Amino acid sequence: MGNSLTPIRRLLIANRGEIACRVIHSAQLMGITTIAVYSDADRHARHVRMADEALYIGPSPALDSYLAIDKLINAAKNSKADAVHPGYGFLSENVAFASACQQHSIIFVGPGPDAMAAMSSKSDAKAIMETAGVPLLPGYHGEDDSLTNLTAEANRIGFPVILKPALGGGGKGMKIVYQQSELAEAVLSAKREAKSAFGDDHLLLEKYLTEPRHIEVQIFADQHGHCVYLSDRDCSVQRRHQKIIEEAPAPGLSDALRQQMGEAAVQAAQAIDYVGAGTVEFLYDARQHTYFFMEMNTRLQVEHPVTEMITGQDLVQWQIRVAEGKPLPLTQSEIRHQGHAVEARLYAEDTQHGFLPASGLIHFLSEPDSEAFSVGATHTNRVRIDSGITQGDTVTTYYDPMLAKVIAWGEDRTSALHQLQSVLSRYQLGGVATNINYLQRILAHPSFIQGELSTHFIEQHQDALQ
Ligand code: ADP
Repeated sequence: MGNSLTPIRRLLIANRGEIACRVIHSAQLMGITTIAVYSDADRHARHVRMADEALYIGPSPALDSYLAIDKLINAAKNSKADAVHPGYGFLSENVAFASACQQHSIIFVGPGPDAMAAMSSKSDAKAIMETAGVPLLPGYHGEDDSLTNLTAEANRIGFPVILKPALGGGGKGMKIVYQQSELAEAVLSAKREAKSAFGDDHLLLEKYLTEPRHIEVQIFADQHGHCVYLSDRDCSVQRRHQKIIEEAPAPGLSDALRQQMGEAAVQAAQAIDYVGAGTVEFLYDARQHTYFFMEMNTRLQVEHPVTEMITGQDLVQWQIRVAEGKPLPLTQSEIRHQGHAVEARLYAEDTQHGFLPASGLIHFLSEPDSEAFSVGATHTNRVRIDSGITQGDTVTTYYDPMLAKVIAWGEDRTSALHQLQSVLSRYQLGGVATNINYLQRILAHPSFIQGELSTHFIEQHQDALQ
């Protein structure tokens, strides 16, 4: 990758919903012409109306539109886009898409295909991180995943252990094993699920932590060899490995530990010559104050706004600058964080009936303070709603059920939580079931308020939350 400056004047956003709107917003602030793409289901969607131009790319199923590499490349070429922003999900971590952009001389706003490929296998990622000196959980991520070897390794590490598909994601195919007698059956079923979900049945093994927190570090690297971290986030409140509430900074960490984790994340990024926005995810054991590399996401995360609120930075603008070949806007010592921010994900789902995705016409929508959409926290801007919907839209089940994110900032965690409760109570949406009441119950739960976080929070408090 050369170090020459290539200004981006026309940016195609290869995504939909709130993240497409979020990217369009920052690109327009930079004077860039934005080009949306849309499927049949999204003809009248908010991101289409917000963009300067819009191109139809195909039928509603994502495989025929937002996941169709050839259609997106054609759209970029036909609209004379200099660059493509992939958002998150869809093709954002797809090595073939990043390579196709490169082949057609279109800037991909993200890391190079090699860095992306290095992190796409959990086993390869762990091997790289081990060499780079990033702390790993005791485990085995080598070639020999025969039952004999996994049994020997599990006994060496000590039960409980967790089996994971090497090429996995989305929490699929993972098995927790509490004793040796359960291992044979767990290996068989994990391999079966891995094969059908990821086309590869290779497994890795690691120590299972019984009460961890999910803590991740936002990193950023430019094409000139600079790499920084922008504080951390706690994303422990998850349902079936799906994050629901995220906050920054992660509560209860000492400054020394925060710095250590930040530096470990930077080391991880540098080990693969990373460029752009990335997130290094750790499991954190609060009793021992120890942290372990879990994986690296090579894209902008859903939860990036909490980091923007406490640092006052616009990470989409950072991404665009870096993709143009410019240096990072700040050095490590210039990055500060102030106060606390919490994000709640608003899903179209029926919390009373198994959390099934909901659909229907949004016949009424009133989003409080939504006109105050801006990045970074100031004394007048303590609430932010990143939304992909408007009144009159029809929510379908073709895509991810997340409709919007509600984010609040406060001088401390308590005031951020009050702000968030207040804005959620004023958010009104009619016509489609949502998880708003469920979110409010989580935020009001005494253990959550106390900051007693773990990845089992939802399971442990299920009865109180229903
Ligand atoms: P995926 O890529 O499929 O989402 P991850 O490796 O990121 O899988 O793990 C997803 C979640 O599973 C984590 O956020 C955590 O809640 C849980 N988890 C993963 N590994 C462990 C472990 N070793 N001990 C305890 N929990 C784990």
